[in-house]
Amino acid sequence: MSQSGIVSLWNRYRSVGIVYRIGVAFVLGSLVGLVVGEPATALKPVGDLFVRLLKMLIVPIVVFTLLMGVRQLSPSSLGRVGAQVVGLYALTSAFAVAIGLGVSNLVSPGSRGLEELLAGAEAQSAEAPDAVEVVLNVVPTNPVGAMADGGVLPTIFFVVVFGLGLTLAWEETDDEQVKRGIETFFDLADAGAEAMYKVVWGAMEFGVLGVFALMANVFGTAGVDAILPFALLIGTMLLAAVVHIGLVYLGTFVVGVAGRSPVAFLSGARDAMVTALSIRSSSGTLPVTMSDADENLGIEERIYGFTLPLGATINMDGTAMYQGVAAIFAANIVGVNLSLVDQFAVVAVAVLASIGTAGVPGSGLIMLTLVLTQLGLPLEIVGLVAGVDPILDRIRTMVNVTGDLAVTTVVATWNDAVDFTADAWNDGVGAALSD
Ligand code: ASP
Repeated sequence: MSQSGIVSLWNRYRSVGIVYRIGVAFVLGSLVGLVVGEPATALKPVGDLFVRLLKMLIVPIVVFTLLMGVRQLSPSSLGRVGAQVVGLYALTSAFAVAIGLGVSNLVSPGSRGLEELLAGAEAQSAEAPDAVEVVLNVVPTNPVGAMADGGVLPTIFFVVVFGLGLTLAWEETDDEQVKRGIETFFDLADAGAEAMYKVVWGAMEFGVLGVFALMANVFGTAGVDAILPFALLIGTMLLAAVVHIGLVYLGTFVVGVAGRSPVAFLSGARDAMVTALSIRSSSGTLPVTMSDADENLGIEERIYGFTLPLGATINMDGTAMYQGVAAIFAANIVGVNLSLVDQFAVVAVAVLASIGTAGVPGSGLIMLTLVLTQLGLPLEIVGLVAGVDPILDRIRTMVNVTGDLAVTTVVATWNDAVDFTADAWNDGVGAALSD
């Protein structure tokens, strides 16, 4: 083939979205594993290389992206509405992880078929750690040491308090030089985060090969038995999403707090939900989310103009929920029972990590590396679930934007900033429940 032929072939290949190429690699790798059997496991080192790349990214991602997230939380820009919003955002994310954990504990999505697969992988959390120790260990005695050891929770803890320290210092100092220094510091973190996303996507480019190799290894070892767990994983995530939307957003917020019909809320939020499902990015969906809040749900701009952009950055209930579901999936696969303490650690890491997750396609998958590292579970799982991520990401993103709108509706209700005569509330299904 001529050189220009190769170049145009390469360009054609690159023009297909990376997640779809990974999806194809997932299917092809699985087929190769099924057909070739045991010899396909020779590809394992290629998969291992992908896993090493992911590991390399963990600490820099936490540091840069969390600093970027904490910058949004500067105390003076928040005020009373801000405190309500941030409180609810954190609370709903914690519920989302708990529901993700609860549903997957019931279903055990990873327990059928793959057990022997990663049997050799280390499962350091097999012995239940002491609860007091776990809580104490969240605070690092040496932040640099925690980062060097890849300690996820202590690193997150340090970065969050450091970021809050920076925003407070910025607000309280009159010294222009210090102010400028802090701004530069945050700007550098923003730049670092942008750069890390580029590196992540570079790693994902290699991930096309990595996922192919990992899947060839999985099916080469486990055969057809490996199909069911992935189907169960998707089903579990869907079930957890429905339970969360039903119980928290509709049951508690829309009906309980606002006293309105859940159908009305869903019809008002429909455009944003459908857009999120199709483009897999809550940041990309933001204009639609805002127009739903304004035109359909009758929420005043002074509320949604603040809560929705903030939500698209820091509130990721679907992403947080996914961490819970995937943690149980991973634990099932290596045959470990996660203790209650482990599961609390998942809630803590997932809620904090979701603050730093960018509202772009696939970022929740990278955050999974944090949760798995915290639990001492093998990072190969990230490679395994990457192939079905185009489906899981849609569910996550749809929950993410629905959560932003549900919290915005509650806060607007509390602050008398919602017009319940607006379209969605009144097109026949939208009357107040008490009417
Ligand atoms: N794609 C999601 C979002 O934009 C983030 C994720 O990957 O979980 O909200």
